[in-house]
This record gives sequence, structure tokens and C-alpha cells, in this order.
Amino acid sequence: MSPRRPSSPPTAAPASARAADAPGLPPGLTAGRNGSAGRPGSPGRPKPPRHLADLGLPERRAAVAELGERPFRADQLSRQYFTRLADDPGEMTDLPQSSRQELADALLPRLLTAERELACDDGTTRKTLWRTFDGAYIESVLMRYPGRVTMCVSSQAGCGMACPFCATGQAGLTRNLSTAEIVEQVVAGARALARGQVPGGPGRVSNVVFMGMGEPLANYRSVVQALRRLTEPAPAGLGISARGVTVSTVGLVPAIGRLAAEGLPVTLAVSLHAPDDEARDELVPVNRRWKVAEVLDAAWRYADVTGRRVSIEYALIRDVNDQAWRADLLGGLLAGHLAHVNLIPLNPTPGSRWTASRPAAQDEFVAGLEAHGVPVTVRDTRGREIDGACGQLAASSGGPTPLDPPHALRAPRGYIADTPAARRAQGPDSLDR
Ligand code: SF4
Repeated sequence: MSPRRPSSPPTAAPASARAADAPGLPPGLTAGRNGSAGRPGSPGRPKPPRHLADLGLPERRAAVAELGERPFRADQLSRQYFTRLADDPGEMTDLPQSSRQELADALLPRLLTAERELACDDGTTRKTLWRTFDGAYIESVLMRYPGRVTMCVSSQAGCGMACPFCATGQAGLTRNLSTAEIVEQVVAGARALARGQVPGGPGRVSNVVFMGMGEPLANYRSVVQALRRLTEPAPAGLGISARGVTVSTVGLVPAIGRLAAEGLPVTLAVSLHAPDDEARDELVPVNRRWKVAEVLDAAWRYADVTGRRVSIEYALIRDVNDQAWRADLLGGLLAGHLAHVNLIPLNPTPGSRWTASRPAAQDEFVAGLEAHGVPVTVRDTRGREIDGACGQLAASSGGPTPLDPPHALRAPRGYIADTPAARRAQGPDSLDR
């Protein structure tokens, strides 16, 4: 292990979250209710209201029929939500005027309220702090780049994985998000784009990354349903290509196996952050349950089943995990596998003992991986500037789960350096999917 230790030991999750401890996780780590297949809410917390996006199309038709409406009204309502991105029943002119409000009240309840917004990059990066119906706070980020728009979404309010460098992890898990609460973050971004509220003219969401708050695979059921809603064509869903969707995980091995079997060819990103168990046990506490070798085995099985290249996320932290020998070790583990390394220079935060690697160490780390023939990209420093700016919103949010600069470790993909070397490394099926 490096001489630089984590700044503080993992903090135990709050009592409400501890009550939801999942079998198989180390002490202090929490998945959602029912373990890795957790449902929205925690014991004692009300569930989010039912929303159209929680339901498959047949269930929506049944729900509409229960209201005394013809089942095809469900398809019309679904098109209003997923295709026309309507949020005002008055706009839903293909529905009878007499039933619009009742249908909207029953199946399109307001789930998220925008509490604060911060724009960076001349307005093409927009970070939103959302308040949920029960007062929890989550965040999403819209990033517009030439030719693509990526939404980074949260899957949980808070997180139970207790990564010591992450403020969200230190605060513990508040609750899992429902399927619709996840989908609504993307729909909100799609709506802003369609209405021309993002510089660059009207556009569409092309990519979704589950790299906001939370461990997606600890909220397995809601996340997989959200993946279906995002990728199903209208009227069932938003119709985003599965190849444009990335699910990030700290390495919940059984859930990676389940995801591989879902028939959803989304990209898997593994937040590895260390190639050896000694360092990873501290940086990513879930490693005490599933070791590096098990996590990578699961990742390679995922790549075999889906044909999708796995993204290995690695935050470079000065003197903690950025040594040349660790680059060599990581390169050896990844060589010959369908993998790509995304190196993320740590964005220093005030008061933290964690800081970014020296440029020379970063260059040596890249060279060490390339010596093994492993594709690698380094996040552009522009991303660091953006993170810093967006962190100001976190600092002033005052919510129970403030936006979290260290969480940028699981970086939105749009922040990758756009250099010839980076483009070569990214290959044809990387960030511009
Ligand atoms: S880094 Fe991600 S997985 Fe780890 S505690 Fe933070 S939100 Fe959870």
C-alpha cells in the first residue's frame, strides 16, 4: 500500500440505510432493500408515486383501463411523455380534453423538482440538483458535444458503498431511486434539448451514463427497468441505442453476471481504481467482498456475452495508486482483454488530503499501460475546471446529499481528452457510440 492513506476511514451508513444491509457486503456497506435487487425506498420511507415510466406498456394499458379509459390511451400518453416530451396535460391534444388531467394525475405525477442548476462550457454542460418527492437530493448532468449529447444520471439518493474519497459515500445511502425517477432525469434533459434550451439548437440525447450518485447495480431492479425504458422504441420508451448507454459499478460481481444475462448490450464500466487488493480494499471497500480478480473475471464474462468493450475507470491519486509498478500490474491484468482504461486525474477538493498525480507520474502510468498494448485515455483538464465550477453548486446546495466533487471520479465520458492519441485509443466503438 502507498504511504498516503485514505483521508478518513469509511463512515458507517445512517441507521435507516444500515437497516437495509445486504447479505454478502462488508460491514458498513449497504445495497438497496432486498440486497442487490433493491426496491425504491427504505424501511419507513414512503415509495415514490407510481409513474408511467415505472410500467411496461401492457401494465400501462391495464392502468388506463382501470381508470375507465380505452387501453390505447396508454399508448397515446406514452408518446406524449417519451416522444413529444410533454409535461403539460393541456398540450396533449390527441387525448380527450375531459380525460387529460385525470390520466396525467394518475400516470405522470411530478417526481423531481429542479432545485438548482449550474451551466458550464457556454451552457453546453448543465448540472441539475433535483429534489425528490420525499426531500432527497440527487444530481444529473447534461453534456453537449459536437455530434452527441450525454446525460449522466443518478441511480440512488446517496450511496452505501462507502468509498473513502467520496462525500456521497461518506453520507451513506438515503434510498434507491425508482425506475421513473431515473428515467425522468433523462427525459428532463431531452425536453430541454428539444425545446432549444441548450446552446447549439434543438437536439436529442444520444448517450446515457449511470455515473451520477449511487451504485447502479445495488439498485438492480429499478436500473434494469430504466435501461429498458431508455432503450425501448416509442411508445414503450425513449428509443436510445443500448450502445450509447453505460452502467458503472464498483464491482458487485453477482449483479454483473445478472446484467450480462439481461440481453441489453449496454457498456459496463468498472470503477477499479487499483490493480491490487491491498490498495483497492481501502479505496473501494466492496473489494473486501469481491476481490480484483473476481471483479475482472466478471467483467470479461460480461464482454464475452455482450461483445461490448469494458471500460476500466481509474482515478489517479498522487502517491496512492499512481506508481509505475501499479501501471505495470494493471497492464498485465488487462492485456489481451476487451478493455479500455479511462484514467481520471483526481480533482482536488478543499481540505482533502487526496490530490491529483504529478504530470510525470501520470505520463509514466499511461506509458506503463500502453507498454502492455492496453488502450488508455486521460480525462482532459477541461473536465477538472468544469468539475470545480460544478462543485460550487454542491458546496452551496445545503441539501442532505450535496453534489459531490469526488464523485466526478466516475467521470462523465464527455470529459475525455480529444487528442489524436486519445482518439486512437478510443477506437471506433468508444465514446461516440
Ligand atoms: S464513488 Fe460511487 S460507488 Fe463509491 S461511494 Fe461514491 S457514489 Fe458510491
